[in-house]
Amino acid sequence: MNIDLEELYRDLHANPELSFQEVRTADIVSGHLEDLGLLVHRAIGKTGVVGVLDNGPGPVVMLRADMDALPVKEATGLDYASAAVGVDHDGREVPVMHACGHDVHVTCLIGAVETLARNKHDWQGTLIAVFQPAEEWGGGAQAMVADGLYDAVPKPDIVLGQHVAPFPAGWFGVRPGVAMASADSLNVTLHGRGGHGSRPETTVDPVLMAAAATMRLQGVVSRELAASDAAVVTVGQIHAGTKNNIIPETATLGLSIRSFSESTRDKVLGSIERIVRSEAAASDAPKEPDFHYEERFPLTVNNEPAANRITAAFRAAFGDNKVIDPGPVSGSEDVGELATAAGAPLVYWFLGGIDESYARQWADQGRLPEDVPSNHSPYFAPVIQPTLTFGTEALVTAAREFLAAPK
Ligand code: ZN
Ligand code: ZN
Repeated sequence: MNIDLEELYRDLHANPELSFQEVRTADIVSGHLEDLGLLVHRAIGKTGVVGVLDNGPGPVVMLRADMDALPVKEATGLDYASAAVGVDHDGREVPVMHACGHDVHVTCLIGAVETLARNKHDWQGTLIAVFQPAEEWGGGAQAMVADGLYDAVPKPDIVLGQHVAPFPAGWFGVRPGVAMASADSLNVTLHGRGGHGSRPETTVDPVLMAAAATMRLQGVVSRELAASDAAVVTVGQIHAGTKNNIIPETATLGLSIRSFSESTRDKVLGSIERIVRSEAAASDAPKEPDFHYEERFPLTVNNEPAANRITAAFRAAFGDNKVIDPGPVSGSEDVGELATAAGAPLVYWFLGGIDESYARQWADQGRLPEDVPSNHSPYFAPVIQPTLTFGTEALVTAAREFLAAPK
């Protein structure tokens, strides 16, 4: 009996799990892979699962889905909405939601494996299905590689995957070359000298330092990069102080930095450190600032010839006008780690996941109303169909493009 993908999706959506805690999801995935006759390796990179379907000599094709959810309180009002809570890696109790659509990715990959496993006479080669933990946290792909992924399974000739995005279902975005930005999450601690709020002359005020640095950092992209270059510097957190009449000892900044080339990345990170150090010096800080990098994502670079093959295959399968080049996207991904570690080309594309009724507006104006919720929104709600059908068919089409024809 065929797997009911819509039911699987609703179940995953209602039961999301945080990064590196995808235990229930991994159990469900493993069960389906075993039923479909794959050789299954579990607990690679803590909760990662890999299934191998050896179907004779031929290319090795890896399909990848990420499994983790986010600390977001779901507000969609759907009858399969999540009410889950979890404990994050700092020990805090948080709501949990599949706000990035990784439940779509898991469901579509199970669907694609089922199609390929039930039609083994149609192709030849080896299919590897990777269900990766902790994409949101940034360490999942690396954890699987470090935990011996490529000792357990053959290195692929190509790595393929997809991300659901807020554009109409039935459309695909394929970008040859640099497809997604690198991301660096940086925490900065500025050191001052605390004291009474009425006597600033006896202190070094880290709040002023933090404010001045935050303003000045917005000059990096606007004043130090060429107009043809691009990057994002966001200060998403500022923390300092406990009471209005106390000048605190320290202030912290939390930054998110996105770049589209390694040279720009180096330049932007260097400028940020220079500006923060200079602001500390300008205040006569008693101590140099501390820089602590957290999540880091590589550039996502699609192999150009392979991406062009996928574009042509999708156009043939889904319609000439349904495949667009979205340009480089400022979001980030760690799927590239799986390809880099294997020395294999990567193609990672975007899958439309909102109602098709928006298609006319999308086609005419190239954009959607601003109230269409994006990934990571508490209102993010991909339409189940035709998203799951297209997502499944896209993976099958892409895999078949690189697997061999039967002899
Ligand atoms: Zn995400
Ligand atoms: Zn995501």
